[in-house]
Amino acid sequence: MKHIVIVGNGIAGITAARHIRKKSDYKITVVSAESEYFFSRTALMYVYMGHMRFEDTQPYEPYFWKKNRIELIHDCVTTIDFDAKTLKLEQQSDLHYDDLILAVGSKPNTFGWPGQDLKGVQGLYSKQDLEAMEANSKGVTQAVIVGGGLIGVEMAEMLLSRDIPVKFLVREDRFWGGILPRADADLIEGQMAQHHALDLCKETELEAIQGDDNGRVKSITTKSGETIPCQFVGLTVGVTPNVDFLRGTTLEIDRGILVNPDLSTSIPNVYAIGDCAQFKRSNGMRRSIEQVWYTGRMMGETVAETICGNPTNYSPGHWFNSAKFFDVEYQTYGWVWNELKEDEEEFIWRHPQKEILMHFVFDKDTLTFKGINNFGIRLRHEVFDNWLNQSATIDEVMTNLRRANFDPEFFSTYEKEIVAAYNQQFNKHIQLASKKWWRRILA
Ligand SMILES: Cc1cc2nc3c(=O)[nH]c(=O)nc-3n(C[C@H](O)[C@H](O)[C@H](O)COP(=O)(O)OP(=O)(O)OC[C@H]3O[C@@H](n4cnc5c(N)ncnc54)[C@H](O)[C@@H]3O)c2cc1C
Repeated sequence: MKHIVIVGNGIAGITAARHIRKKSDYKITVVSAESEYFFSRTALMYVYMGHMRFEDTQPYEPYFWKKNRIELIHDCVTTIDFDAKTLKLEQQSDLHYDDLILAVGSKPNTFGWPGQDLKGVQGLYSKQDLEAMEANSKGVTQAVIVGGGLIGVEMAEMLLSRDIPVKFLVREDRFWGGILPRADADLIEGQMAQHHALDLCKETELEAIQGDDNGRVKSITTKSGETIPCQFVGLTVGVTPNVDFLRGTTLEIDRGILVNPDLSTSIPNVYAIGDCAQFKRSNGMRRSIEQVWYTGRMMGETVAETICGNPTNYSPGHWFNSAKFFDVEYQTYGWVWNELKEDEEEFIWRHPQKEILMHFVFDKDTLTFKGINNFGIRLRHEVFDNWLNQSATIDEVMTNLRRANFDPEFFSTYEKEIVAAYNQQFNKHIQLASKKWWRRILA
């Protein structure tokens, strides 16, 4: 019987295993180094904050794997002999495969800063990082976080939950400046300012980290020469595919493992999925490496189809993502860049008191809706997907805004104001479609 070996038990590898099992009787083995069982990486912060135990982050009970005939090996793959189709493991005997899926995820970036290996300096990616953070943050009276993305903000929230003051260093002139437009970053910065123990230091770059006689961090210096005393440094300057152990083999690797549209690699019977895969040709405006949860899941489903005899290309549809910045929920559909492009126009509506903002982007000439960033209210994914599929205009989006409303009872109070502001800014006379009308459409 064909033997499918999957390296990595994250969302990508486990989705592939589950879907191959649904579709076939193949022998399936998952080898993974970090943990015995699959867990939700996105929930790690809640373990530190005491909202759940680590066991609660495991979506499946231990019996699930035996019942579904998915063998789990808790070990590290040290090298792969692609000619012999054999994996070498750190502790257990060699493993032979017929088809191999590499789902080895990412690792936190470091940039060779002096002092980056001192005690109390760490990233946040793995279960081991969570354990390290538990130990490293004991007795800390000042923490520094370097790099303001989604993981940085999670780390800040974690430390603040234990009353540890945080200086949050970001290189750009705004929070998450590589992704968020100015108005959107302003909203999040306003939210951050409500946390008095959080000090967002913009246009501030790490130069070096200094240690004490015990090899523990005691301060950092910035590129402008400021010294900040601290006992904990979080390095959250992005992640990179975790592929070093594969370099020097015949597998084609750039920043990640290079894949074709069907997730096959340069070596027959070898596939790569999730954070570690890099598309040789990018798909429209999507990035060639996608390091988010749902894309890992979609790649797992796609590769399972191909391996089970139904060759399938990865086709993720329109870009979307969601996250939470402290108490503010964020969703994005389509393309909203940090700086408006030349052929684009925008309409931004911000609630005068509450942390609610909608940022629409559309084509200047054709008025085709291109994307939205949305904060503080939830919108319906399928409605935006339809609008993007149908190349709806911004006027159509405004007219039918009530359809996008995830929670009509809550959101209905703002639609009139949003459309009125739109009409005023663009000198239009859009009328909101009535509730009865769109309810009939949805029914
Ligand atoms: C703190 C944090 C919060 C996040 N929050 C969000 C969020 O809110 N929304 C979102 O969309 N995304 C979020 N992400 C990103 C998301 O979690 C990742 O995109 C996703 O988990 C990647 O899944 P994966 O299966 O590709 O890899 P991983 O989950 O990284 O799994 C890869 C596994 O392979 C194992 N492995 C690697 N090399 C070897 C080897 N040589 N031998 C054996 N095993 C090996 C690793 O130990 C690891 O367990 C977050 C990430 C982090 C770190």
